[in-house]
Amino acid sequence: QGTMIVHVRVAPLGDDYILLLADDRTEITRTEAIRNDFVANVSHELKTPVSAISLLSEAIDGAADDPVAVHRFTARLYKESARLGAMVQDIIELSRLQGTNIVVEGEAVDINAVIAEAVDRNKLPAEEKQINISVGGKSLDPVFGDRDLLMTALRNLIDNAIRYSGPGTTVGVGIRQRDGLIQVSVTDQGPGISADEQDRIFERFYRVDAARSRQTGGTGLGLSIVKHVVANHGGEVTVWSQPGQGSTFTVRLPILEDGQLPAEDFSGGS
Ligand code: ADP
Repeated sequence: QGTMIVHVRVAPLGDDYILLLADDRTEITRTEAIRNDFVANVSHELKTPVSAISLLSEAIDGAADDPVAVHRFTARLYKESARLGAMVQDIIELSRLQGTNIVVEGEAVDINAVIAEAVDRNKLPAEEKQINISVGGKSLDPVFGDRDLLMTALRNLIDNAIRYSGPGTTVGVGIRQRDGLIQVSVTDQGPGISADEQDRIFERFYRVDAARSRQTGGTGLGLSIVKHVVANHGGEVTVWSQPGQGSTFTVRLPILEDGQLPAEDFSGGS
C-alpha cells in the first residue's frame, strides 16, 4: 500500500535526447493481483473434487465383481461431480460479479416475487429435512436491479439456512421496508456462527468447517456471491448470530426511486 507502480519505456530521440514514457500501472497491477489470487484459489479448490472423481472411477473399475461396492462408489461419484458442477457455476458467477461494480442495466424488480420464487426453489431440500420455511412481513416496493442476481443471492441465503440447520427446524424469511430501504432477513435455528468467524464467512472459499461444508455440498462461494450481488445493487448484507442460537442474515437494498428508470420501461414498452 502507498506504493505506485510505474512502467517506464525509453526511446532514443536522435543522438542528444531520450524519450521517457511513464505509465501508471498501480490499479492494473492491483486488479491483476486479485485475479491471480482468485485463479490460485480456484485451482486449489477444484483439485479436491477432480481427484476424488478420478479415484472413485478407479475404485469402480477395481470393484467390478462387487455390485454393492460399485453402487456405493457410484453414488459418491455422482455427489462429487454434482459438487464440481456447482463449484464451476459459482466460480463463473463470482468472476463475472468481481469484474463489475454497479448494476447498470437494471429493471424494476418485484422483490416479493423474487422471494417467493427463491423459497419455492428451495422447497425440495427443505422437505427432505422436514424444515418449514415461513415467510412473513408486508409486501415491498420494487428495487432497481438485476432480477436473476437478486434471486441468486436470496436463494443462496435460504439454501445455507436449510443446509446448516437440523431436521424439523424452521427457517424464517422476514421482509420489511423503511427509510427508503427494503430489508429481507433469513433466520435459521442452526448451529450459529461465532463472532470471529462472522467477519470471515463472506470471503470466497472460507468455510468454518470445511469437512462439514463439503458434506453438505457447499462450495465456499455462496456468501461471497451474496456480498457482491448486494454491493452491486448499492446495498449491504449483515449477519447476526450466536453459537447455539441460530443465525440471521439480513440484506438491505435501496428501493427504486422515481426517475431511476426511463418512463417507458414502467409502461412495459420496448
Ligand atoms: P458454503 O458453500 O461452504 O456454505 P458459503 O460462502 O455459503 O459457503 O458460507 C461460508 C461458511 O459460512 C460456510 O461454510 C459455513 O461455515 C458458514 N455459514 C453460512 N451460512 C450459515 C448458516 N446459516 N449457519 C451456520 N453457518 C453458516
